[in-house]
Amino acid sequence: MAPNNTSSTDAKSPTNRNVEHVVLGDLLFKTWYQSIYPEELVSKDTDRLYVCRWCFRYSCDVDLYAKHTRSCENQATPLGTKVYDHGGYSVWEVDGGDHKLFAQNLSLFAKLFVDHKSVFFDVATFLFYILTFTDPEDPVNYYILGYFSKEKLSWDANNLACILIFPPYQHKQLGKLLMGVSYKLSDWEREGGLIGGPEKPLSEMGHKSYVRFWEERMSRHLLRPSPDSNSDEPGQQKQRTPKGSRKRAPFTCMTVQDIGLATGMLTEDVITALKGMEVIESDSGNKKRKSSGETSNGDGPTVTIWKSNVLEWAKDHRVTLQDPVREEGFLGKIASNNIDEGDEDDEGQDTESPEEDE
Ligand SMILES: [Zn+2]
Repeated sequence: MAPNNTSSTDAKSPTNRNVEHVVLGDLLFKTWYQSIYPEELVSKDTDRLYVCRWCFRYSCDVDLYAKHTRSCENQATPLGTKVYDHGGYSVWEVDGGDHKLFAQNLSLFAKLFVDHKSVFFDVATFLFYILTFTDPEDPVNYYILGYFSKEKLSWDANNLACILIFPPYQHKQLGKLLMGVSYKLSDWEREGGLIGGPEKPLSEMGHKSYVRFWEERMSRHLLRPSPDSNSDEPGQQKQRTPKGSRKRAPFTCMTVQDIGLATGMLTEDVITALKGMEVIESDSGNKKRKSSGETSNGDGPTVTIWKSNVLEWAKDHRVTLQDPVREEGFLGKIASNNIDEGDEDDEGQDTESPEEDE
């Protein structure tokens, strides 16, 4: 499922939707786009489609649905292998080849909220990362809140194909949680130095969401107390202080590639984020500083970043330095046997919108 084209306004036009509302567990909500449910099961003017919140099987018949939910085999626990678990939120890796029906039904459901081409029929070539929430007060009940998919083998090293947080759960920073997980997984896989990102082009909404995610990721990286500057590790920041002052480094010079290596982000995404944050020196009369990332030395473009600007940006946008994805939440390098990342489609239109600032 690829996220691009069509602006969200057009796409959300109700004209082509075949299903008006869905009932997911005990939630009823409107759909946004058309999906490709088989017409013999879901007619073109369906008002309510009942969808199992554990396995995404669907029916227009409320009785059949009710009967199914009493015996759904996914009810007790999600499919797949848990890869992340923190604060009640978990992410489960489901191989589309092992669980085709689940993957297809999930994709059909997701399509109601994502406007782009489908990859429904080759789900076997994708991994699906399912986000669940379990209330500690009610530990036997889990809720699927959204997911992202990723091609098992992506020539472009895309680390995410399609991402969707289901509408009732949007605006809670959960898209960022999934994006963070996707970067963590690709981080494990990039032994050859291959850095990935979401499949492009992104939808309009996907672009906004990712830019914000990248900006926050960059700001956390840039504001992190820097380890001592002797190390040669890529990503190490070279702190410079102008003239006499020794106390604080008001700006930092580094190459865009270094930042990319340190954050696992593609150079183009690093530049997008830095420009969006407006924290790079844009010229000015100071000849010693290279300005906006256009200057090249052997290591690629060098940028001069003013930390005070980064800090200001972070404050203005109420970004906490604590990453929403907690390192201790990862349960092991499970995904690494799947070659590289996936790709295609990304983010479906979805993701939560960027304005969700906490
Ligand atoms: Zn079910």
